[in-house]
Amino acid sequence: MAADRVVIVGAGQGGFQAAASLRQDGFAGRVTLLGDEPGLPYQRPPLSKAYMKDGDPKRLALRAEAFFAEAAIERVEGRAVAIDRAAARVGLADGRTLAYDQLILATGARNVVPPIAGLADAVASRAVVGLRTLGDAGLLRERIAAGGRAVVIGGGFIGLEFAAVARAAGLDVTVVEAADRLMARVVSPEISGHFLDLHRSLGVDVRPGVAATAVEPGAVTLADGDRVAGDLILLAVGVRPNAELAAEAGLGVANGVVVDGRLVTSDPAISALGDVASYPGPDGAPVRLESVQAAVDHARHIARRIATGDMADYAAVPWFWSDQGDRKLQIAGLRHPGHRTVVVPGDRLVVLSLDGDVLKAVETVNAPAPHMAARRLLAQDRALTAGEIEAAGFDLVALAKGAKV
Ligand SMILES: Cc1cc2nc3c(=O)[nH]c(=O)nc-3n(C[C@H](O)[C@H](O)[C@H](O)COP(=O)(O)OP(=O)(O)OC[C@H]3O[C@@H](n4cnc5c(N)ncnc54)[C@H](O)[C@@H]3O)c2cc1C
Repeated sequence: MAADRVVIVGAGQGGFQAAASLRQDGFAGRVTLLGDEPGLPYQRPPLSKAYMKDGDPKRLALRAEAFFAEAAIERVEGRAVAIDRAAARVGLADGRTLAYDQLILATGARNVVPPIAGLADAVASRAVVGLRTLGDAGLLRERIAAGGRAVVIGGGFIGLEFAAVARAAGLDVTVVEAADRLMARVVSPEISGHFLDLHRSLGVDVRPGVAATAVEPGAVTLADGDRVAGDLILLAVGVRPNAELAAEAGLGVANGVVVDGRLVTSDPAISALGDVASYPGPDGAPVRLESVQAAVDHARHIARRIATGDMADYAAVPWFWSDQGDRKLQIAGLRHPGHRTVVVPGDRLVVLSLDGDVLKAVETVNAPAPHMAARRLLAQDRALTAGEIEAAGFDLVALAKGAKV
C-alpha cells in the first residue's frame, strides 16, 4: 500500500508511538501528528504516581522537542472535528484541513461523568476533578498541598493510585466504590482483597459496595445515607472512548472504533489504536484496552503495515501495571469474570486465571520475574494448562525458559 502522507489524530501515547515507529520502520513520506493538548506529547501513568508525588514534569514528555525535528515529524496543535473520507482530508476546528493517504485515529478516551445528582455542575466548576491530563494533575497537586480531606469516587486503578499518594501526603482519604470489590472490572477477587487490605492498612477509609448518589462542592452523599466531606473530590469512575469523529464519518463504532485483526477500520485508509480502538482480542472477541501496552503495540503494528506493507494480524499479549503504595500490581494476559483462579503457593502473591484448564492471565504483586515469565508463556502458540503448571511446581520462570515464542 503506497502512502505518502500519514496523518495521526491524537498526540498521546499511541499517536506519538505511531509517528516514531513510522520513521523507525523507514517510512519516508510526510508524517503529521495532530494533537489538541498543549506542549509535547507526554505519558499519563506518572500523573497518578510519581508526578502526583513530586510534580517533576521532566520525565513526562515522551521525547524532547529536538526529536520531532530530527525525525521530520510535523506537530500540529489543533482539534480534528471532521473526516471527509471521499476527499481524504481531516478538518480542524480552526478551519484548516490536512490531506492524508493513511489516517490513524489515536484520540484516546475521556472521563465518564455518571448521572449523579449535582455531579455535572461540580465537574463544570472544577469543584470535582477527574485525572486524565497534565492540567488535571496540576490542579489535584495544588489541592493535595492544601491538605484536609479527600474523597475519591471510584475504586479503580487511578482512584486507588491517587488515594495512596494523597494519604501519604497526610490527607484523610475516603474511597467510595459502587461495586462490591475494588478494581472489579479487571482483577480477580484475590487481588481486590489484597489491595483492600493494603489501603485500609495505610489508613484509607475504603467503602466498597456503596454508590455516590449526590455531589455538591465539599461533600459526597452515599447510597447508605452517609455524607462524606471532601476538600478535594476526585472523580475516577472510568473513561469513554473519543470515537465521535469516527462515528460521524460513518466508520463502525461499538465501544470504540471497530478495527479488524490488522487494526484497520471499515475504511482501508483509516486505522485506530489504543484507548479508542475496539480490536479482536486474544480470544477473538472485541476488546478495548486502556493501557500503555495496547497503545504502543497497536501503534507499532500499524506503522509497520504502512511503512513496509506487512499485512500480519496483531497478536501482542496484553499487559498492564499499577503502583499503589509500595505495591506494584502487574497483569499479563486478559482475565474474564468467568475464569477460575488459582493462588500460587509462595511468599509473593501470584494469581493464575484459568478458562477451564487453560491459562489466560497472571496477576502478580511485587513479583516482576513471574510477570515477565507469564508474558512469555502467554505468547506461545500453544495453550498452557493448569496441570503443566502444577507439575512444574508453579515455577513460571522455569517454565518460561523452555517456552517457544
Ligand atoms: C492518570 C492515569 C494513569 C494511568 N496509569 C497507567 C498505568 O499505570 N499503566 C498503563 O498501562 N496505563 C495507564 N494509563 C492508561 C494509559 O495512559 C492510556 O491507556 C494511554 O495513554 C492510551 O494512549 P492513547 O494514545 O490511546 O490515548 P491518549 O494517550 O489519551 O492520547 C489521546 C490524545 O488525543 C487527543 N485528542 C482526542 N481527540 C482529539 C481530536 N479530535 N483532535 C486532536 N486531538 C485529539 C487527546 O487530547 C489526547 O492528547 C493511565 C492513564 C491515566 C489517565
